[in-house]
Amino acid sequence: MRGYEALVDPTSSYSLLTHGCVRMMTRYEFRKLLESREALTRSQKQRLIDELKKELLREASIDLIESRFEKRKRCPHCGGGALLRWGSAHRLQRYRCRACKKTCNALTGTALARLRYKERWLSYCECLYEGRSVREAARRSGIDKTTAFRWRHRFLRQPTKHKAPKMVGIVEADETFFRESAKGSKRLHHRPARKRGVGRNKEKAEQVPVLVVRDRSGSVADLVFERLEKERVHACLKPLLSEELVLCTDGSSLYSTFAKEQNIPHKRIIALDKGRVIDNIFHLQNLNAYISRLKNWMLRFKGVSTEYLSNYLGWRRLLEKHNGQPPAEFCLYESLGGMPTNQQLLHT
Ligand SMILES: [Zn+2]
Repeated sequence: MRGYEALVDPTSSYSLLTHGCVRMMTRYEFRKLLESREALTRSQKQRLIDELKKELLREASIDLIESRFEKRKRCPHCGGGALLRWGSAHRLQRYRCRACKKTCNALTGTALARLRYKERWLSYCECLYEGRSVREAARRSGIDKTTAFRWRHRFLRQPTKHKAPKMVGIVEADETFFRESAKGSKRLHHRPARKRGVGRNKEKAEQVPVLVVRDRSGSVADLVFERLEKERVHACLKPLLSEELVLCTDGSSLYSTFAKEQNIPHKRIIALDKGRVIDNIFHLQNLNAYISRLKNWMLRFKGVSTEYLSNYLGWRRLLEKHNGQPPAEFCLYESLGGMPTNQQLLHT
């Protein structure tokens, strides 16, 4: 049994409550249904098993979605707390807000609104947190590849927004580059096609710089830039590096000028020798290892669109944070915007 399947709880009475839109079978009807099983052919039996499994998974998803909403029942349009039950649609309870008169359901305003095949969401979440490729996720969740790709960015939209707001203690910072790619992008279609075999400097110009900052507690922030311009980089680093800390970098002027201006102790690990350690503790080894895990993991996607680069960086942060496999319900909650009671969900 796969992890998410454990969420199918046959004793749950919650589903009876929330799926009130479906008429429940009487005992008599159910007995008749059971009696008719012998008349089924083998393929019909199998089909019934498959459909029931699907149904249970759909209910498990809906239970999670509805119970999350119940905990902070607020109108997503105006924030009002007076919601009246207002029929149901797509197996979800609908509500009407007394204040703004608009209707909503538990998914309104979330990244997963109007997404179909709820029976596949939990399985898909599991694939996402196992860092699987589109092809694998599609196969395991029983959806086509286009849907799997579309879902990837919907399910990641919310969780990838959580970046560490502040670094503390010993902080390592360095830049890395990703090849610019217009793959699947609408925005960059008009740029001239890349010429093969161009010189090194020109090649560098077509790389997207990403600044990665990591402290020893494992908090990571990544910043995607068009170009590494001093003013912009400094402006982004300022709120991140405002606590008491020691900054370790390769010593490029980008960082040394910043450290000087902000009066931050700065350990320069010279560029040619990134493995160097100062006073036994100041080095870039954790960050280098992180970047190398990130780059290796990214290889499986065979070049990601620059437009989505932040999503992939955020995805990697999530995988690192959970280091293994968090429960499927946690993943679904993260995609819906987290649980209000769990502060841990708000920070990566
Ligand atoms: Zn309202």
